[in-house]
Amino acid sequence: MATIGFIGLGNMGGPMAINLVKAGHNVKAFDLSQAAMDTVVAEGGNAAASAADAVTGAEFVVSMLPAGKHVQGLFQTGDAPLFDLISKDALIIDSSTIDAATAQSVSAAAAERGLSFIDAPVSGGVGGAVAGTLAFMVGATDEQFAKAKPVLDVMGKNIFHAGQSGAGQIAKACNNMLLSILMTGTCEALNMGMKNGLDPAVLSEIMKQSSGGNWALNVYNPVPGVMDGVPSSNDYQGGFQVDLMYKDLGLAMDLSQQSASSVPMGSAARSLFSLHKAKGNGGLDFSSVIKLYQDQ
Ligand code: NAD
Repeated sequence: MATIGFIGLGNMGGPMAINLVKAGHNVKAFDLSQAAMDTVVAEGGNAAASAADAVTGAEFVVSMLPAGKHVQGLFQTGDAPLFDLISKDALIIDSSTIDAATAQSVSAAAAERGLSFIDAPVSGGVGGAVAGTLAFMVGATDEQFAKAKPVLDVMGKNIFHAGQSGAGQIAKACNNMLLSILMTGTCEALNMGMKNGLDPAVLSEIMKQSSGGNWALNVYNPVPGVMDGVPSSNDYQGGFQVDLMYKDLGLAMDLSQQSASSVPMGSAARSLFSLHKAKGNGGLDFSSVIKLYQDQ
């Protein structure tokens, strides 16, 4: 069993760290939020006094932070960069969703110091994080991937080696752009059915079993009351925040710009999330975008 420093114990990082604890690892957990720390400590994690404390002596460091600036600041460019403290034998696994360029530049800065930093963003939502069934998309060398896999296996079901440094983040941007299109499309169709008198549960079941079936319908229905245990049935609390989806769509737009890829559907979805966010819904789960249709 390994000593693992885990930084960022939010909606996703908390349950991921708990799964590492349950698998018998010595998890030194740190978050700026005491409440987030308490949740992991209650399950057997060790509270670290600081991010520096969490990584000191760790064989693996896992980070699950909001965005690229947090990752870069914490490890490389901040006042007390963790790169100064992490063992050269350790593997740093960043599972945050950040831009590929930052992931590559932090990885290169790590390599210059003889350290090993890989990108391993995830898909599967909070439910997948709790169940330990996340999909990991990893940007790493073969050797780094082989070293990370046993740790990732504890937190996920499908572990993909997307390519070299940054490739995991590129795969993630593609996936989340598609997710945003599927979610907004699902909201659009459900809203039209409801406006025409259909029961959303019945319509959801029909589309699930028909050619419109997709992830949003299968496990993340956006209409309150249709599905238990999803954010829509909990006032859109928890889950994957609109702010984070909006961030991810910004990453996808940057990527499309850099590669001259056409993304008309992704752009439309980004505009919808932008409008929804501007109405003050940034802290809600992203399936709340159905409100945008209902408010009109
Ligand atoms: P979150 O806001 O719930 O958690 C982020 C945590 O990081 C917070 O608890 C915050 O206090 C902590 N944090 C920020 N800066 C820190 C620092 N310097 N030191 C220590 N802790 C710090 O976000 P989340 O939903 O857990 O998402 C985390 C990442 O995972 C994001 O990049 C997101 O895009 C990605 N993601 C989220 C989901 C989802 O369904 N929520 C799914 C896949 C990927």
